Amino acid sequence: MEINNILFTGRLIKELGSLLDSSEALKGKSLRFIPENAVSMEDLEWADAYVAFQPTENFHFGNIKWIHSLGAGVDRYMALGKWPEDVLLTRTITSFGQKIGEYTLSYMLKDLQHHDTFDGQQRRGEWKMVAPRGLNEVKVVIFGTGEIGQEVARILAYFGVKVYGVSRSGVKKSHFRQVMPLEELDDTCLRDADYIINTLPLTAETERLFDADFFEKLNQAVFINVGRGGTVDHDALLAAMDSDSVKAAVLDVFEEEPLPVGSPLWSKPGVTITPHISAITTPKEAVACFLETLECVESGRKIRNAVDPGRGY
Ligand code: NAP
Repeated sequence: MEINNILFTGRLIKELGSLLDSSEALKGKSLRFIPENAVSMEDLEWADAYVAFQPTENFHFGNIKWIHSLGAGVDRYMALGKWPEDVLLTRTITSFGQKIGEYTLSYMLKDLQHHDTFDGQQRRGEWKMVAPRGLNEVKVVIFGTGEIGQEVARILAYFGVKVYGVSRSGVKKSHFRQVMPLEELDDTCLRDADYIINTLPLTAETERLFDADFFEKLNQAVFINVGRGGTVDHDALLAAMDSDSVKAAVLDVFEEEPLPVGSPLWSKPGVTITPHISAITTPKEAVACFLETLECVESGRKIRNAVDPGRGY
């Protein structure tokens, strides 16, 4: 596929512009870096490639042959509706798994080492022993055994965590003791879990997957969501925290971002909210993945980060 006119939009355009300015790989191509709200119909007609985190509000495919998502998730592109057969969709794959591995590990250790308890005791001048629990004593179930899930599993398994995985296919992956297809996930596996980590993409199948039925199978587990907010029924999560099937929740992603001021999640004891920072795309990483993908697109080499629009991820 030959690419000549590339339209970049979204919050990274300034940095991408300066990093790509002198790129040999882009010699002879025309580039436009335009803020999302200023992209015109003419820009979309002009472009044969579109590079951004999401489609603009006025998005239409025009002459676009290739869309490259600057994020790993493509749910906002999938929400455009039926995907045109002749448009290639690729996504950014970079150090997200390592970052999310560190994010989850930090909250697990905070819990296992009783940081909140000791902070409270120190404020009260109280000396009371509470034994920390070891990482090798706990069981984690990771939903999604893809790029991110596998890396999180690698990091946690290194510290002795018993790691189980859930995916669509159930294909065995390294670092997981067992990988189960969603429909074969049994209640005992969930009842024994100390932590549930969600790394699933948002698709028609995963929307509201974590609902009241799911949460009631848990037994004092901590629920960590780094996938997408739309996979969770948050009312059901709050109810599950009241009934003690969920001990705490660490939430990095929400259906509406920023999380609205009036959301009950903000003030719920036991809920930790972070502003979608568990794996931020850096400009350098974005450029490296974009250029590698462009090379594959133009040379016909295998594209490892192509999205299957039929599956939605
Ligand atoms: P990926 O490599 O495509 O992996 C997706 C995994 O989800 C696969 O294991 C897949 O199963 C599984 N899956 C998909 N649909 C399923 C279903 N219906 N039931 C059970 N399992 C299902 O994706 P990734 O790179 O790991 O990224 C995953 C998601 O993380 C992204 O889509 C994005 O939403 C989120 N993300 C968040 C952040 C953040 O900052 N919080 C950053 C990056 C990404 P198979 O293996 O059987 O295909």
